Amino acid sequence: MLSARQIKEQAVRAGADFCGIADIERFDGAPPDMHPATIFPETRSLIVYGSRILKGSYKGIQEGTDWSSYWVFGYGPGILNSMDGATEAVTELLAAEGYEAVPLMGGRTLQDEAPPNRPPVAEGKLPPCISIHTRMAAALAGLGEFGWSKVFLTPQFGPRQRLAVLATDAVLKPDPLFDGSLCDRCGVCVRTCPGKALGGDRQGVTVEGRTFEWGDVDYGQCKVTHWGLNPKASPFVQKDLPGMRMEVDKTDYTWFEAYRLGFALGEIIDYVGLLARGSAEHGAVSRPGSVCGARGCIQACNTHLETRGVLRGGSKQDGE
Ligand code: SF4
Ligand code: SF4
Repeated sequence: MLSARQIKEQAVRAGADFCGIADIERFDGAPPDMHPATIFPETRSLIVYGSRILKGSYKGIQEGTDWSSYWVFGYGPGILNSMDGATEAVTELLAAEGYEAVPLMGGRTLQDEAPPNRPPVAEGKLPPCISIHTRMAAALAGLGEFGWSKVFLTPQFGPRQRLAVLATDAVLKPDPLFDGSLCDRCGVCVRTCPGKALGGDRQGVTVEGRTFEWGDVDYGQCKVTHWGLNPKASPFVQKDLPGMRMEVDKTDYTWFEAYRLGFALGEIIDYVGLLARGSAEHGAVSRPGSVCGARGCIQACNTHLETRGVLRGGSKQDGE
C-alpha cells in the first residue's frame, strides 16, 4: 500500500520542489466542467507538485537586454518540462502498485481557447474542454494560498512556481490546508501591473472552513500586456509599430481575442516574433513570449514578501 509520503518523496526526488495531496472530497461543489472526476471518474486523490521559477530568469527583462530566459525557464517549456520527470516517476510508482495516474491539463483559460460552442461528442457528455483549476488544486493540496493577484503563493517561494496535477484512484492521506497567511493585501501587485489587470471584484471559495480569496483578473488586459503589445510593458511594439497607441486599460478584449491578437502581431513585431521562434527551438509551440515578465503579479509580489521576511525559501520539500 502506497503512502502519501512515498508519493511526495518520489516527486521531489524526480525534480519537483514540493508536493502536496488533496482528496477528491475537497472538490465537492466544483463545477462539473472543472471537476477532476469529469475526466477520471475513479479519482480519489489529487497529487499536486511544483517547480520554482528561478529569480535569475527575470534579470534580462529587468536590465532591458533579454526576454528569452524568463519565457523559457520561468514560464514556458524549460520549467514545464522540468516537471515531466516528476510526472513520469510518480506515475510509475502508482502503476507498480496497480493504480492509475491521469495528468490533468491545467489552466483556467483553456475553455476560452476552445472554439466557441464546441458541442459534446455524445449525448450526456460535457463539451470537450474541461479545465481543472490548477491553483485551486494546489490550495486544496495544502501547498499555500491565493494572493490578491490570483497568483498562487507558497511559503517557500511566494509567487514563483509553476504547478502540475496528477489524478489517481489511490486513496492517499490528504495534507492539511495551509493555515498561514502570506498575502497581506498590500496592493503592490495591483499598482505595479502594467496591464491594469488585477484587483477586480473579490472572488473566493471556502473549503473545510478555510476561505481562499483573490481579486478578479481582467484576462484580456493581462494577455495583451503579457504578449508584449502594451507599450507600458514592452519596448518593442512602439519601435516596430510606431503608429500603434494601445491604451490597454481602455481595451475590452476577451482572453481569446487577446491571445489571437498576440499571434497575429507576432508576425510583424520583430522581437515578439524572435521569442516565438526561440520557444519553438526549445520544443514549445511557437507563440509570442511573456514580455511583461509578470512585473506586478510575480516580481513585485516576490520582492514584497521577501522584504517582509515571510518566505521560507529552501530547496526541497521540508517538514516531511
Ligand atoms: S503583492 Fe502579493 S502580498 Fe501584496 S496584495 Fe498582491 S498578492 Fe498579496
Ligand atoms: S502578467 Fe503582467 S499584465 Fe498580467 S497580471 Fe501579471 S503583471 Fe499584470
